[in-house]
Amino acid sequence: MTAPLDVLVVGAGPTGLALAAQLRAYGTRFRIVDRSLDRARESRALAIQPRTLEALAGFGVTDELLARGNPAMQLRMHLPRRVVALPLFDIGLTDTAYPFLLFLSQAETEAVLSEHLAARDLTIERGTELVRLEVKDAYAVCRLQDGDGTQETVEARYVVGCDGSHSTVRTQAGIGFEGYAYPQTFLLADLEVDGLEPGAVHTYMSGTGMLFFFPLGSPASWRMLAMRPPDTPDAEVELPLLQEIADSYTDDQLALRDPVWMTDFRLHNRGAAHYRSGPCFLAGDAAHIHSPAGAQGMNTGIQDALSLGWKLALVCRGAASEELLGTYEAERAPIGRSVLRFTDRAFSIGTSSNLLIRFARTQLAPRLAPLALRATALRGRVFRTVSELGIHYRRSPATTAGSRPPRSGPRAGDRLPDLPRGLQAGTAAPDWHLLLSGPPPIWPDERLAPILDGRADLVAVHRFDGQTPWPGVVHGLVRPDGYLGYVARGTDLDGLRTYLDRWLPTDRH
Ligand SMILES: Cc1cc2nc3c(=O)[nH]c(=O)nc-3n(C[C@H](O)[C@H](O)[C@H](O)COP(=O)(O)OP(=O)(O)OC[C@H]3O[C@@H](n4cnc5c(N)ncnc54)[C@H](O)[C@@H]3O)c2cc1C
Repeated sequence: MTAPLDVLVVGAGPTGLALAAQLRAYGTRFRIVDRSLDRARESRALAIQPRTLEALAGFGVTDELLARGNPAMQLRMHLPRRVVALPLFDIGLTDTAYPFLLFLSQAETEAVLSEHLAARDLTIERGTELVRLEVKDAYAVCRLQDGDGTQETVEARYVVGCDGSHSTVRTQAGIGFEGYAYPQTFLLADLEVDGLEPGAVHTYMSGTGMLFFFPLGSPASWRMLAMRPPDTPDAEVELPLLQEIADSYTDDQLALRDPVWMTDFRLHNRGAAHYRSGPCFLAGDAAHIHSPAGAQGMNTGIQDALSLGWKLALVCRGAASEELLGTYEAERAPIGRSVLRFTDRAFSIGTSSNLLIRFARTQLAPRLAPLALRATALRGRVFRTVSELGIHYRRSPATTAGSRPPRSGPRAGDRLPDLPRGLQAGTAAPDWHLLLSGPPPIWPDERLAPILDGRADLVAVHRFDGQTPWPGVVHGLVRPDGYLGYVARGTDLDGLRTYLDRWLPTDRH
C-alpha cells in the first residue's frame, strides 16, 4: 500500500470532473477513478444554469462551454389557438455576465471538463471501480479493482462519492437514500424536427401531460421529452411512437426524423440522509436525484463539487481548520432539499392526472400565460431561483454578518454579484479576497497587517473607491467559492479578525 492520499474522487461524471478541476487548481494530492472505460456519450442533462457558468469561469472552462452551447432566450407555449412567447431570464439577472440558459448536452459538458483536466496533465483512471470502503483510524481505506480483476488498496484522508444515484460510497458509508419513485415513465429522444422555430424551448399541454422540445444543438438539433401514454406501456421507443405522441399534442404540425438517441426512464425523488460520514463525502446524484424539471440536476451536482473542493484543498494543505469541512453539509444539504421540493412541485403540475391540476394546466395556464409577461416581480424571482443565482449560505456557520452589516448590497452568505462587471473574475479562486471600499487612504497597510499576518498568502486585498456593490466604507471577505464569508461597515476589523482566526487560523502547521 502506498502513502495515504489526500483525496480520492470516485466517479468522473460532471460532478467528479468539476471537483477534480478544483482540486487540480489547488495542487491537492488526489486521484479520480471511474469504473466505466469511456465517458458517457448520451446527451442526458441538457442545460447549464448561469450560476454554474459563473462558478466554472474561475477555472477557464466557461468560454469553451459558451463556444459549443446554444443559449435559448424564449419559451414558446403552444396553446389551442395561439402561441405565447415568454422571454426567458430577461429580468432579475442584471448582476451576472451570463443571463441565459445555455443548452449543451451533458456529453459535451463532460468533454470540455475532461479536456480541461487533460491539458493540466491529470489522468482520469478509467476502468477502475471502488468495490469496498472501510474507515480505519479516521482514514478511508478503499479497495479499487480494474477491468481484469486486479485489486489495489488505497488509503485516503477523504473520499468523495461522485458516483451517481447508485453510489457505492454512500452504500458502504451506511448513509440512507430516502424518497420515492414517480409512477410515470418518460420518453426522451434527441432528433431533428421540422416545423419548430429554432432558438426557443417549446411546450405543448394537454389533459394527459406535457410535451417539450429543447434546442439541444448537438448531437441533434432537438431534445424531445414527453410522458409515455398509458395505453403504450411496453411499446419500443421508436420514431413512429414518438411521432404519434407529437401529433396528438400538435395536430400533426411537426415532422420528427433522424433520431440519434431514444430511451425511456423512470424518475425518482430521493435525498441522502447526510452528505458526510467521517472521511466520506457525497456530491451530485449520489446525494440527490429528482425530476429534470427546471434543469437543476447536473447543475446542483457541479455546484456541490465546487462547494466542497476548496474546503478539502485548504484543509489538506493545513491552511484551514478541519471544522471547515463540517460546513459542507450545513451549506449544501438545504440546497439539495429545496431542489427536491421545487422539482417535485414543478413535476406534479406538469404530469398530475388530478382533476384540479389538469384544469389548471389546460384551462387556466392558457389564460394566465399572457399575464405572466406582465408579472415582472414574480418572473424575476422564478428566474433567480432556476438560474441558481439566488442560492445563499446566510445561515451557514462559515458566513458571519459583522455587528454593523451594510445597509444595502449583498450580505454575508450571499454570492458576490458580478457588478461592476469583472468583479467576479478579479476575485476568483483559489484565493480568498478582502474587498475594501471607501477612499483608499482609510485602508493603510498598517491597519491590515495584524489581520493578515500569517495568512497573507491566502488572502488577496483589493481597494475600491466607489466601485463595489456597497455604498460607503465597507469591508467584505469573499470565500474561494465566490460567496461572502464576512461583511461589515466601517474600518473596525475586530469582527473580521475573529472570523479569520476561526476559519484560517494562523497557528496551523
Ligand atoms: C435519461 C436521463 C436524462 C437526464 N436528463 C437530465 C436533464 O435534462 N437535466 C438534468 O439536469 N439532468 C438530467 N439527467 C440527470 C443528470 O444526467 C445527472 O444529474 C448527472 O449525470 C449527475 O452527475 P454525477 O456526476 O453526479 O453522476 P453521474 O453522471 O451518474 O456519474 C457517476 C459516475 O460514477 C461512476 N461510478 C459509479 N459507481 C462507481 C464505482 N463504484 N467506482 C467507480 N466509478 C463509479 C459512473 O461510471 C459514472 O461515470 C438525466 C439523466 C438521465 C439518465
